[in-house]
Amino acid sequence: MTYMDNPPPRRRPGLFRGADRWVSPAQQQRDHNGQRNTCAACGHDGTATDPLVVDVTDGMRVHRSHFDDPGSGYYGLEFR
Ligand SMILES: [Zn+2]
Repeated sequence: MTYMDNPPPRRRPGLFRGADRWVSPAQQQRDHNGQRNTCAACGHDGTATDPLVVDVTDGMRVHRSHFDDPGSGYYGLEFR
């Protein structure tokens, strides 16, 4: 196995700071404001059946279900 066979993951500037590397600076500010479990898309809290995940595209915390909803702007996007 050489370096080129297994390169390190690419990093996008500005999105991968801090312990939670998928969270954007805007979402970090929301976390500090006590909105860590508040969906950035609809404003409702995450639940056991519909927890919040991080949208990799913009680094915001939103409900897992938004990625499965064809009517949602998150449909088909990558999340963590
Ligand atoms: Zn939501």
